[in-house]
Amino acid sequence: MGERPVLEILKDRVAAKQAVGLTRRLVSVGPACGRHVTVRGRRCLLMASNDYLGLAGHPRLAAAAQEAAAACGTGSGASRLISGTLESHLELEWAIARFKHAPAALFFPTGYMTNLGVVSTLAGEGDLIVSDALNHASLIDACRLSRAQVAVFPHGDAARAEELLAQGPADRVKLLVSDGVFSMDGELAPVPELLAAARRQNALLVIDDAHATGVWGATGRGTLEHYGLEPEPQVVMAGTFSKALGGLGGFAAGAPEVIEALVHGARSLLYSTAPPPAQAAVALAGLELVDAEPWRREHLCALSALLRRRLAEAGLTSVGRAGPIVPVLTGSAQASLQLAEGLWERGIFAPAVRPPTVPEGASRIRLTVTAAHQESDIEQAAQALADAAREAGL
Ligand code: PMP
Repeated sequence: MGERPVLEILKDRVAAKQAVGLTRRLVSVGPACGRHVTVRGRRCLLMASNDYLGLAGHPRLAAAAQEAAAACGTGSGASRLISGTLESHLELEWAIARFKHAPAALFFPTGYMTNLGVVSTLAGEGDLIVSDALNHASLIDACRLSRAQVAVFPHGDAARAEELLAQGPADRVKLLVSDGVFSMDGELAPVPELLAAARRQNALLVIDDAHATGVWGATGRGTLEHYGLEPEPQVVMAGTFSKALGGLGGFAAGAPEVIEALVHGARSLLYSTAPPPAQAAVALAGLELVDAEPWRREHLCALSALLRRRLAEAGLTSVGRAGPIVPVLTGSAQASLQLAEGLWERGIFAPAVRPPTVPEGASRIRLTVTAAHQESDIEQAAQALADAAREAGL
């Protein structure tokens, strides 16, 4: 008997996912930097973007990209350590450090590459990483890449995290790693408790503030500011420009020793071409707008609270108490697909989120609010969700 053709094997793997409601489609939605998108020919209200402050459509960001490209070209030509470090990268890194109240910072091509670089460089063979069970995929991949021993603690359980850290090897790096805001729940990590645990156990605390930067804290600095904490040498903040900041790229901010270690070891930085000047210029303009237009954060908070209130009035349970990520649990993957379809029929785009992005049995519709929305959009989305859920028997 001959071997099965290799492409058949791949096809069967995808078919197995289809059978349990886990097929994926890359749906073209047209420009997604405003309130509306066109999905499968239908104009829909967009309730699925992480552009929380609505900056991706801001004319100042577009102008920053155009000016940088016109003045400096479209490509940086090499990795940061060869000839790819541009004045705009250094200027941005100063701005990130100031923004995060940290002594030093480093700009990466994406948030995903930031997490890969940070975690796999700071911890290696013989070291220990203690990681929250619901951490983002990029942190999970980073743990695997590091070759360090990895211990996973139950979601949000800082006491258990500390026990695991206490069992770590002496005189080796111990890394405590958590999302600041969990991307699929919108809930905050217990950062004060994690920080106390890290201090007591001589560990570095890495917080991925991808969903918190620009959104949480009185001036949008992120989860530390929300909790009234100042960065300290033991804390490494990671984040991204691709969500509230309306651009693309990631960053790490922390002690000079940490940033130096990354410059010397982060393979996702060293072996990838440096971000183009336009990307750095957009990131810088995004940071400036967080301070220049605080109404965006205030408007976002008010709309997020309104959506939660309306869903509760309709008898729907959403996860989390605050913030622009408003997930509505459906349980099965099939039910989430049915609800997403019902929303689309009513002119709302918010796709189903299913395993492996969330645990088995925890499929959901993840609604996201942005500062580009208006009150009437939120009313429309809540009504559509209530109607679609009733129709789906949820
Ligand atoms: N961390 C978290 C928590 C995220 O949700 C994401 C993006 N989904 C990333 C990191 C990766 O960021 P980027 O999209 O900039 O690669």
